[in-house]
Amino acid sequence: MRLKNVPGCRERIAESKYVIPEEELASCAGRWHEIFGREGEIHIEIGMGKGRFIHELASLNPDILYIGIEKYSAVLLRAVQKMEEEPKGNLIFIRMDAENIADVFAPGEVDRIYLNFSDPWPKDRHAKRRLPSREFLARYDKILKADGRIEFKTDNRVLFDWAVEELPGSVFGADVITYDLHSDEKLMEGNVMTEYEEKFSGMGNPICKYIITRK
Ligand code: SAM
Repeated sequence: MRLKNVPGCRERIAESKYVIPEEELASCAGRWHEIFGREGEIHIEIGMGKGRFIHELASLNPDILYIGIEKYSAVLLRAVQKMEEEPKGNLIFIRMDAENIADVFAPGEVDRIYLNFSDPWPKDRHAKRRLPSREFLARYDKILKADGRIEFKTDNRVLFDWAVEELPGSVFGADVITYDLHSDEKLMEGNVMTEYEEKFSGMGNPICKYIITRK
């Protein structure tokens, strides 16, 4: 998701109490419960866009601690504005490229990772940038708890098939794979729609989803 540059957005992000200051990120690993001021499972969404999904999850599950990660300030600003309207004590944001995710969390610190409608990076030479790539899965392996899980949703069938083929090159295996989430009554229980999910399912695109855990 690219939004036009919003003048002053970097400054507004830097000043926001809902975003971890960039200079403090290096010291966050292993301290997330202290940062939230309480215990609880830690669930993160990587590439959260405008943050609707994670904001809604934070409302539904007040005991879980949520961290939304987004690369672009102009996009993150929308999530910050939503928090200003409707603050959540169990949700905080990071502006960063998730390539460095293993610097921000201690080994085993994260209970769950959500990847929603990740950018497809269609050129082969950019495959390593895809968030469900084996390179990213190796980073997730470093920070995810032993019984932690990763949930990935997309309407992009080419990206999804590729992501499933990446699994044998990782420590993860699929517990659930569906090519039409919205037709699966059981998997739809508690499903929270993302912005992209609403848009693309509304256009009639089937939504693919996997849930993976360590083999
Ligand atoms: N998850 C949202 C949804 O489903 O509506 C947004 C999907 S949008 C297609 C993908 C988002 O991931 C964009 O906002 C993009 O900036 C972000 N993103 C892509 N690569 C990223 C990375 N390496 N680190 C952090 N964010 C990333």
